[in-house]
Amino acid sequence: MADAAPLPGAGTPRGSLIDGFGRRITYLRISVTDRCDLRCRYCMAEEMRFLPPKALMTIDEIAEIADAFIARGVNRIRLTGGEPLVRRGAVDLARTIGRNLGHGLDELTLTTNGTRLADQAHALVDAGVRRVNVSLDSRDPERFRHITRTGDLARVLDGIAAGRDAGLRIKINMVALKGLNEDDIEPMLRWCAAEGHGLTLIETMPLGDTGEDRTDRYLPLDAVRQQLERRYTLVPIPERTGGPARYTHVAELDAKLGFITPLTNNFCAGCNRVRLTAEGHLYLCLGHEDRIDLRGALREGGRAALDDALDRAMLAKPEAHAFRIEADRPAVARHMSVTGG
Ligand code: SAM
Ligand code: SF4
Repeated sequence: MADAAPLPGAGTPRGSLIDGFGRRITYLRISVTDRCDLRCRYCMAEEMRFLPPKALMTIDEIAEIADAFIARGVNRIRLTGGEPLVRRGAVDLARTIGRNLGHGLDELTLTTNGTRLADQAHALVDAGVRRVNVSLDSRDPERFRHITRTGDLARVLDGIAAGRDAGLRIKINMVALKGLNEDDIEPMLRWCAAEGHGLTLIETMPLGDTGEDRTDRYLPLDAVRQQLERRYTLVPIPERTGGPARYTHVAELDAKLGFITPLTNNFCAGCNRVRLTAEGHLYLCLGHEDRIDLRGALREGGRAALDDALDRAMLAKPEAHAFRIEADRPAVARHMSVTGG
């Protein structure tokens, strides 16, 4: 962790966040809690230990840190977790951050498992959220329960429908899992096309011990893509949403299909993002342990110290992740739910 010595120039207005490799940081993901009401096999262990509530930043602290990022040129923020909507105050946080929309912030989004979306969709729209990613790895109730270990598919589908009715644009995130949901991919694509949702497929990443062997579950997306291309015409589209996904237009279905391929296709050169945990640690890369304690800086020295910490963070951001699925241990001991997927 970086030390807290002030940098030269502390107290003067700060510029954009540019890391040591010349990449401009414009995207912040905030894990508002590490807790979740599901236990997806690729994400968490069945008996997960979560942080005690008092270890979390307060909602006001998260908002203050978000403000500091926006003042330094971050124009997109995504709330995630864990499951963001299980934290009391998550919608208040969205509302507070949403006040910056049109004043430096271009977009506020959310990644959710959808279990609580039915209750909160309208409030999220009122807060300024227009797009949400909902994770859905199968539309078969049994399989969905198996993958999430506890989930009720009907509840998630209700959440998705309520979100859409409230005016949210929905993108479905699906982790491709060998032997678990391979044959759900094409039906999911057709369903998403019919419902007007985008679909993004994700390769499973070696983060945190889940109590299961990931090597068996790793499904390279180039193989999935080749399979789909036997039936569909996938036309690459240049659209970027501030994330690592590469998009295609599926001509026969008039649908958008994205691929996130950290393992088969390293996307680090264009990285524009950093991740804030619920405890206030800023991780500079999903695949490294380097982190900066922003909450500590804020509590000790207020906004000036926070800005100093952001400057130090830029110097600490690594060039690339080093994920390898074959390794016998997770590449990073932290779970995705801690760093914010
Ligand atoms: N609970 C919310 C959800 O599931 O959408 C937000 C947090 S979850 C950690 C964010 C995304 O990370 C989800 O789309 C999930 O499928 C994905 N994810 C979790 N663990 C992963 C892993 N080991 N490899 C790849 N994606 C993962
Ligand atoms: Fe929870 Fe999301 Fe992880 Fe599934 S992927 S266990 S829903 S945090």
